[in-house]
Amino acid sequence: MSIKKPSKILAGALQRYENPKTTVLDFFGGLGVSFVMPGMTLFALLSVLACNETNMCKPTSLAELSWSFFKENTQTRAFVLPFVVYHGWLLWLVALYFILPADKVSGTTLRNGTKLLYPVNGNALVSYALLASMYGHYGRRPFIWIADNTLGLVVSSFLVATMQAILLYMLSFRAQVMLSVVGNSGNPIYDFFIGRELNPRIFGLDLKYFCELRPGIIGWTVLNICFAVKQYHSFGYITNSMWIVIISQILYALDSLWFESAVLTTMDITTEGFGWMLSMGDLCWLPAVYTIQARYLSFTPIVLSDVYCFFIAAMSVCSYLVFRLSNSQKNNFRSNPNSKISRNNKYLETKAGSKLLISGWWGLARHINYTGDWFLGLSQCLATGFGTPYTYFFSAYFLALLLHRNARDEHKCMQKYGNDWDKYCSIVKYKFIPYIY
Ligand code: NDP
Repeated sequence: MSIKKPSKILAGALQRYENPKTTVLDFFGGLGVSFVMPGMTLFALLSVLACNETNMCKPTSLAELSWSFFKENTQTRAFVLPFVVYHGWLLWLVALYFILPADKVSGTTLRNGTKLLYPVNGNALVSYALLASMYGHYGRRPFIWIADNTLGLVVSSFLVATMQAILLYMLSFRAQVMLSVVGNSGNPIYDFFIGRELNPRIFGLDLKYFCELRPGIIGWTVLNICFAVKQYHSFGYITNSMWIVIISQILYALDSLWFESAVLTTMDITTEGFGWMLSMGDLCWLPAVYTIQARYLSFTPIVLSDVYCFFIAAMSVCSYLVFRLSNSQKNNFRSNPNSKISRNNKYLETKAGSKLLISGWWGLARHINYTGDWFLGLSQCLATGFGTPYTYFFSAYFLALLLHRNARDEHKCMQKYGNDWDKYCSIVKYKFIPYIY
């Protein structure tokens, strides 16, 4: 039987249909991302250097920090063992990806009409069991080692993230690859940053999905536990500020793993390619920057007054509830529209087919989930007192991230829903905080 080859014109049309050219460039295009990449790298590494036992999170000049980097890390062993340990961590999580029982959940429909299946088995508890058994065998030593070698581990994660992005960029030029609609501009720097390939997979391992919630997010909580052990080791007790930070952050991380399948409908999975931005963000930036508070407290045992502690804890719980309940309302409404709870919601029908919620949390503001998330992060910063600006960097960065994400999301929705989006905005007037903004 002979199979007729499609004509060149048809093949070209199919190619254009499947991989449209990116015409709108975010982050100020190739020039913008040329600043973002070294900026993110410098900040991730310098924040670890500035917030260690030597520099104590005091404002320090770039020159001093760079000097301390060379002074403290002239021996290669400062990096070799962390490099090996970091790879062990990745291998452990890859093994769990394949071994742990999983519900197979399908992602959203791709441009070629197919759907990919993803194993929903992200589980931090197995890694915590490993930590507990390490504690049983070796006591506090491995925990202190991890806390003391954060820089080496972060440098390792940076190298892995960057190598991964370089390899994926090169591999994305092979035939029959579905590219991201936002990472196919033809500008190599920009496409390397955003990521060309939409869903790179290797031997059944979905790299973007794997990196999104596992090495960085579980790693963040493991580092936090190590910093709490370090504080205990150094001072003989764990402060209430440390408890608030680690409990609040571990619950947040466990929440994202518990609702792991929700990640399949986020912009990261459905739209972005897997390039340097996500690879670096997931593997290196997250554990380097999100751990600043616990790292600072590991050598600065701040004890909060009962009243202040209660205020911070209450702020943390309330913010978490806004974040969780709003996300759940939308997820339930979208994934289970015929349930009794979903049927009580008010919504707007759109020509694009999807319904937009206009009641409950989603009647208050268009991104009330971001608001809850931001205040939760702020409560964790406030738990560190007011001795250093570094621990507040997270709030400033997270605000920028959410504002930018909101702008990109609104742009996407405007394009998708057209006039219906204007109508929706006239019903739900506020972006983040009802009656204010
Ligand atoms: P959202 O969960 O808000 O999803 C936005 C999408 O939801 C829109 O594109 C639209 O998609 C749909 N939508 C918008 N309005 C409505 C409505 N009224 N009713 C129904 N559907 C609607 O955004 P993200 O995926 O960015 O964020 C998810 C969570 O993750 C947030 O809580 C955020 O704070 C958190 N997050 C945390 C980060 C961190 O570093 N800690 C980083 C990024 C996010 P559609 O086309 O389907 O209509």
